[in-house]
Amino acid sequence: MKICISCNSRFDSSGWECPSCHAFPLILDGFPAFAPSLSEKNDGFKVSHFDELAPLEARNFWFRSRNKLIIWALNKYFPGIRSLLEIGCGTGYVLSGIEDAFPTLELSASDIFTSGLEYAKGRVKRTKLLQMDARQIPFEEEFDVIGAFDVLEHITEDVQVLPEMYRAVRPGGGVILTVPQHQFLWSQADSHACHVRRYNVRDLREKVEKAGFSIERMTSFVSLLLPLMMLSRLRQRDSQKDFDPLAELRIGGIANKVLEKMLDLERVLIRNGISWPAGGSLLMIARKNENSVNTK
Ligand SMILES: [Zn+2]
Repeated sequence: MKICISCNSRFDSSGWECPSCHAFPLILDGFPAFAPSLSEKNDGFKVSHFDELAPLEARNFWFRSRNKLIIWALNKYFPGIRSLLEIGCGTGYVLSGIEDAFPTLELSASDIFTSGLEYAKGRVKRTKLLQMDARQIPFEEEFDVIGAFDVLEHITEDVQVLPEMYRAVRPGGGVILTVPQHQFLWSQADSHACHVRRYNVRDLREKVEKAGFSIERMTSFVSLLLPLMMLSRLRQRDSQKDFDPLAELRIGGIANKVLEKMLDLERVLIRNGISWPAGGSLLMIARKNENSVNTK
């Protein structure tokens, strides 16, 4: 169901016009916009990052491996999934991977910036795109799964976002989240990316459970590369002047291939039930109880 932006009533419709009060969202740059005032500028991200990321993602080991992990997790924990909303889709790199892997999946995706959606539009074929603030999601029991891949760490009020996700997924469905992990890895790369935190297991678990979800699986990933990340991050702390925030993403050639192979190996173990205790990132799969009743 959709939630009217004006009168808050719930409705099922292919369009966005509310049957009760006839309100409908603004269309901004061709996208239905639910938080238009935040689309140009907000604290969570800089529009210029899309231009930095877009050309790097498709060949970078980190983005490629994360896509493979997400697609594996969707198949494993949500077999038969029919609909998915990705929050904070950015340039659409994950979405394009999901579209290819799940040809019949009904896909929606949001970003707070229409400039991100413009990139995504060029990459996806059938995903419905909308401009939205994750702290106010205009859906109730609409999606089998909601994904947020390296998004929550940009949002100061992450504890507002998780209950919104909870309301928007169907009972029996759930969420897939990835977030950066370990505050001791904090570096200029995080500040450059507008992160407000790196998570730890306990923090993420508490927030997700408080929103109502039951945690089904939690594992670190980018675990085999943790020593390398620590070295890289320590070096960044020492070199204040000539800091290149994208150095970690510009790794090319053989090194990029070797790192991707290491993460392939790590994923084999994850598939076999090994949950890594530490690593650059955290993966969490959490479910909304089949019998849950929405109270809001
Ligand atoms: Zn209305």
